[in-house]
Amino acid sequence: MLERTLVILKPDAVQRKLCGKIISIFEEAGFNIVDAKFTHASKELVERHYPNNNKWYTSVGNKSITNYQEQGLDIKNTMGTDDPLEIGKVVKKWLVEYMTSGPVLAMVLEGNNAIKNVRKMCGNTIPSSAEPSTIRGRFSIDSSDMANSEHRPVKNLIHASGEPDEAKYEIALWFGSESV
Ligand code: GDP
Repeated sequence: MLERTLVILKPDAVQRKLCGKIISIFEEAGFNIVDAKFTHASKELVERHYPNNNKWYTSVGNKSITNYQEQGLDIKNTMGTDDPLEIGKVVKKWLVEYMTSGPVLAMVLEGNNAIKNVRKMCGNTIPSSAEPSTIRGRFSIDSSDMANSEHRPVKNLIHASGEPDEAKYEIALWFGSESV
């Protein structure tokens, strides 16, 4: 099933000069780049990119809590709360600051089951929990506690759409509806 998905190489990938390597990984797997731009995203764009609803906040907060638990750490020590909703809201604020702090490389990739396959190649959201064969696991060892204590998002190099509706929304947001 031929699909399109949105990929963003985040400011950490650009700063660490990893864009070429990451693009090669997708090209070698067989994906086509059908659109791409190097851009400094606006605050408004990033605010619209990451969802503004309790379901998403809670899901991000729970990822944080799980990562602390895996390491035997208490999230209250760094975040002052163990409420996933509150944690998710703070992470969103950090994401908007971070994603607008420098240029990013946004791309539309096309290929067989692109949405699922690209996510698989990215690996777990938290690099220290990602398989070493994935992009996040190969190029980073960041974790929730490190990131939270430095008041920044987890630096995991890459964003990729999670589901078909998300891909359509995100491609239209970054490239216009003709690229969907
Ligand atoms: P993704 O779809 O795998 O990127 O994950 P999410 O949509 O759940 O989270 C969005 C982004 O928020 C992630 O890519 C990370 O940069 C950041 N993030 C996720 N969980 C945490 C966390 O526990 N702490 C911090 N500081 N950032 C996080």
